[in-house]
Formats: sequence, structure tokens, C-alpha cells
Amino acid sequence: MDVRVAIIGAGPSAFYGAAALLGWKDHAVKVDMFDRLAAPFGLVRYGVAPDHPKIKSVTNLYDKTAADPRFRYFGCVDFGKDVKLAELRDLYDMIFFATGAQSDRNLGIPGEDLAGSMSATEFVAWYNGHPDYVNLNPNLNIEGVVVVGVGNVAMDVARILAKSPEELATTDIADHALEALKKSRVKDIYVLGRRGPAQAKFTNPEIKEFGHLAIADPLVRAPELELDPASAAECEKDRLMKQNVEILRSYIERGSGSKQRRVHFRFLVSPVEITGSGRVEQVKIERNKLVDGNAVGSGEFETVGAGMVLRSVGYKGVPLPDVPFDSKKAIISNAGGRVTDAVGAVQAGLYVAGWAKRGPTGVIGTNKKDAEETVALMLQDVGKSKAGGSGDIATLLSQRGVKFIDWQAWKKIDAAEVNNGKAQNRPRVKLVGIHEMRAVL
Ligand code: NAP
Repeated sequence: MDVRVAIIGAGPSAFYGAAALLGWKDHAVKVDMFDRLAAPFGLVRYGVAPDHPKIKSVTNLYDKTAADPRFRYFGCVDFGKDVKLAELRDLYDMIFFATGAQSDRNLGIPGEDLAGSMSATEFVAWYNGHPDYVNLNPNLNIEGVVVVGVGNVAMDVARILAKSPEELATTDIADHALEALKKSRVKDIYVLGRRGPAQAKFTNPEIKEFGHLAIADPLVRAPELELDPASAAECEKDRLMKQNVEILRSYIERGSGSKQRRVHFRFLVSPVEITGSGRVEQVKIERNKLVDGNAVGSGEFETVGAGMVLRSVGYKGVPLPDVPFDSKKAIISNAGGRVTDAVGAVQAGLYVAGWAKRGPTGVIGTNKKDAEETVALMLQDVGKSKAGGSGDIATLLSQRGVKFIDWQAWKKIDAAEVNNGKAQNRPRVKLVGIHEMRAVL
């Protein structure tokens, strides 16, 4: 059977989904992928840290998928604005949402809206050259930064702030961020975990990297690394958890550090208020106790001087026009990947994968299995939903004046970026704005 599929989003889940769909043996599949931005790869391009190039090499695999003649790419197409769900339903038998989690969670504490307080996701998007965040202009003419949360995103932002310009200069970090970070006066980065070291969400290589930075020392407080009996017992069973704690303990010997910057890993502390006149100046934190694995305030407080607060407490999904959304879980409502309405009824022909399906957890590779599970359901459903019409999206978009970027155009942009990087010994110099990108076409 002929099956036409539209994929919304062009990040990892979208490409894993496309690869699985194009692998179907018994049906003639055609896949069109849409992204709001010109450049594909979503979180790989705009989320993965610039100093982690190996993780980014996964795009070689996505390139192979895109080279399939049954695949087309439509960048610069905003779902819900440039094309509506009803119009896609008319042109495609199945629609696969892979839009990730584009927003972030709040702390819900006073002072969170002060200038200088922002989400780590905004800061990440800024240094990765996401076109929507070019003008974030974080003030780095400060000495203290508080990072709230101890997941891998917190590790990424803390490390980028801790690295020297020389360490960053050979990466694909956005030029505007490199220039700003070169002038950074940041000395102390405080990373706050609300629970103990055993409960930290970061992974071993990420925490280990802090021991090898050119101009920054990782600092810990020995009493905060002591484990309660339950955490100690858990560590004995969980090798990764145990190693995290051991790596942190190995930092005890650094004392107060001798390098120009310090990354203070603090545990069992929560920010309760951000204060300052017009902008962030101080963060009041409360010591916590671990009760049944949960952080409970102790009523003991201290104050940390900081000019910037980056909350890194998890991404959050946002609703898409006309697509059922579970606002409690901040995901597209679904049953295993089949989109459902508010009462759980399956919406024929609509599917979801990745962070938009299960929430913002797991590494990039986790989305392969996730997308394949959704595609397996789609295979079961072939024939149950059919496109109403027979037109072509390219014609519709052109008639509407939507100047989409196809794969060939993207490859030209990509080649220009890589070429610009060669002279500077960098993997690429990112083109940030759409005008810069169109200029090379
Ligand atoms: P995460 O791993 O879920 O970590 C969120 C952190 O925020 C946790 O430490 C959590 O503590 C804390 N938190 C949540 N609410 C809080 C609050 N109200 N106050 C204080 N702390 C709070 O999320 P993430 O760092 O955003 O990462 C998302 C996913 O991307 C993860 O699966 C991560 O591994 C992945 N990722 C991987 C890499 C890599 O492989 N290098 C890089 C970046 C991201 P509790 O545990 O107490 O809730």
C-alpha cells in the first residue's frame, strides 16, 4: 500500500522515526519532514554542548536517512501557522509528531523573574546559536553564577561557564557566545542539588570532566557527600550512582582550589528566594534533609552572592495547535505513541515519539527505541487512516509564499558552515540567522 507520512520536527526522534518508516518492506512509504527552523537536527544542533562533538556525529546517520529518495525536508515551515493540521490530514495518511520539549520548568520562588535569572535551556540555546535566542545577551560581567539542578544540562551550562576561551575556541559554539564568554568575569559557579550526591541525575563522564578543566577546579564539601543509610545501600546496588559519589569524593582533596574559577557542587540545598535591586544579586538557600528519598527543608538558611541564576530543573513540552495535549504531564496525549484525545480515544492517523511522547528524559539514543515503538504501531494501523486529497505540500507552501528550505539547500548551508570552520580549526562556524543562511544559497 502507498503510505504518505508527515513528520513534524527534525530532531533525533524525527530522524529515527523516518529511518524506521523507510525500512518498511511491504508498503511504499514516502516521508516528508517539517521543521520550524531552517536547520534540521533539533536538540543535536541546538541542545548538545558544543564541546561534546562525538555526540553530534550521530547526524551522519540522519544524513543517510535524508539521502533516501523517498525522503523530503521542509525547513522554515511552522506547523499550525504555515500549514494546519487539517491541511496535513488532507495530504498525508499519517502524521508523526516529534517536536520534543521546547520550554522549561520554573522554580516557583520569589525573584525568579529578576534580570539575570533564566532557564538553562535559554542559555544553552544562546550558546548553540538557536536563532530565537541570539539576543539573550546574558550579562557575564559578574563573578557568581548559581545553577539549580544536578542533571546533565546543569553539567553542560556549568562546564561551558567554567571553560577557558581556548577550550571553547575549537568547538562549534556560536560566535556571539564565544565573544561574550571570552570577556566573562565569572569566578564561582554554584551547582545546587536539592537532594544528596547519590540522587544526582548527572552521569559519570559528565561529573568526571570537571576534574580536567584548564582554569577551573571542582569543589565539594565533605559533610555534604556523607550518605544516609538508605542512599549508601542504594549505591551498593547501583554502579553508576556509586561512581558518581566516588568521583565527587575524589574532589575533596582539591580543598578550596588553586585555579581562577571554581565549580562548587553543593548538595541538600534548595534556592528559596532570589534577591537584588532590579537584577539578581543574591540567592537565599535552605539546607535540606533527605526524608524517604525526598528533600525536606530544615529551616537553616544561607546566602550566596551571584549575578546570574540558571534554573536547570528539566525541560517542558508545549502544546501544538489542534493537537491534544496533556498539560499535567506536558506531553502530547498518547497511548504508547498513538495520539489520544482528552478521554483517551485514539486519534486515527496521529502519532508521537520522543520527548513529546514520554517527557524530557534519556539520552539521544533513547529516542531510537521510542520512535521505533511508535512506528511499529503505525505499521499495525496502515490503511486505517487515509489522506483526504491528493495534492502536494510543496505546491501548497509555494502558493502561500512559504520559502521552505529543502535538503539540498540545507546541505549548502551545512557545507558553508563546515568550510568557514576549517580556517579556525573548528568543526563548523554556525550560521545563526535565516538571512545569513539564505545568503549562501
Ligand atoms: P534531569 O536529568 O531530569 O535533571 C533535572 C534536575 O533538576 C534534577 O537534579 C532534579 O532533582 C532537579 N530539580 C527538579 N526540580 C527541582 C526543584 N524544584 N528544585 C531544585 N532542583 C530541582 O534533566 P536535565 O538535566 O534537563 O536533562 C534532561 C535529559 O537530557 C536527561 O535525560 C539528561 O541525561 C539528558 N542530557 C544528556 C546529556 C549527555 O548525555 N551529555 C546532556 C544533557 C542532557 P531531583 O532529582 O531531586 O528531582
